[in-house]
Amino acid sequence: MFENLLRELRKFEHGVRIEVRVETDEKGFLDRKCPHENCGEHFKVLLKDWKDKVPDAKAYCPICGGSARSTEWNTPEQERSFSDQAHNHVSQLIADANEKDVSAFNSRQPSGGFISMRMEHRRGLLLPTLPSRARDAFEQEFQCEQCACQYSSVGAAFFCPACGHNSAGSQYWAALEAVRKLLDGVEELRAHLEQSVGRDGARDIVRLLVENTATKLVGSFQRFAEVRYSEIAGQIPRRNVFQGVAAGSDLWLAVTGSSYESLIGPTDLATISRLFQQRHLFAHRDGIVDQDYVDRSGDRRFSPGQRLIVSVDEVRRVLDVLDRLARGMSNGPENANSGHDPSLPLT
Ligand SMILES: [Zn+2]
Ligand SMILES: [Zn+2]
Repeated sequence: MFENLLRELRKFEHGVRIEVRVETDEKGFLDRKCPHENCGEHFKVLLKDWKDKVPDAKAYCPICGGSARSTEWNTPEQERSFSDQAHNHVSQLIADANEKDVSAFNSRQPSGGFISMRMEHRRGLLLPTLPSRARDAFEQEFQCEQCACQYSSVGAAFFCPACGHNSAGSQYWAALEAVRKLLDGVEELRAHLEQSVGRDGARDIVRLLVENTATKLVGSFQRFAEVRYSEIAGQIPRRNVFQGVAAGSDLWLAVTGSSYESLIGPTDLATISRLFQQRHLFAHRDGIVDQDYVDRSGDRRFSPGQRLIVSVDEVRRVLDVLDRLARGMSNGPENANSGHDPSLPLT
């Protein structure tokens, strides 16, 4: 009697594949959300690349680098829309099968007897199923230098969602850009902060932010130099060798034939030497100047015992120098003739 219905239901024993509709933004990017609890960031991947380049077994979060199966990255809105679409699809299949069974049953009933049997079938309600609306396109777009997968995020992204490649170059330029934006917005930020935490609090927070740029810049440069060194020399450099300017430059000279000074000149070399020494003071002496700092940095503006003051203009100069130094280091021996390094931003 319920042959059609049973036949449909039997299909579900082995799982059914249902095509669902999904909306992308105007640039064709698909919304994704990192499934890892401590991250949960939203990002986007070009739909075509998500289908063609991201393996089923593993996709990567561009922000935290965590991985998960490619089915784990739906946003809550997509989850809802997919489950509504699946519900409707299944309801439709069952309703169609049921309708066929009922009309077959009814057509088999003899007419004219004392008791007449008739079955009725009513369709269940279908849920409204528009594909979930895509978020507006994100401004920052990236393309993996290894597999060419295109993705976008709010703020910096570090890992390719398809192959997990982490570009030291892109990460470094993103760090410089973030510091540059901080410097550009610092006065506006101070004004905002004054309204919420008062003048003293605002000044302390801004000072903390500007001082922290020394640590951020040296750390970013160190990683960039380590990765570039490994690419060129084919081995990992000695730990923390790029935390010092002289030691880093010597190693660079040994492996590429160019010292830092030959890439940026003596004046700019002195500028970054000072930054590296300042980072050391903030990290280990809470910014209190000692004789060692004065000797090594040549910075005679402060005497031992004084507290280091870092100005926004000074950090800006350092940024420009670090930018030029890293560009010089990107044109290493292996791509000296190839023109543009793919990890460099086009300017
Ligand atoms: Zn993540
Ligand atoms: Zn990739």
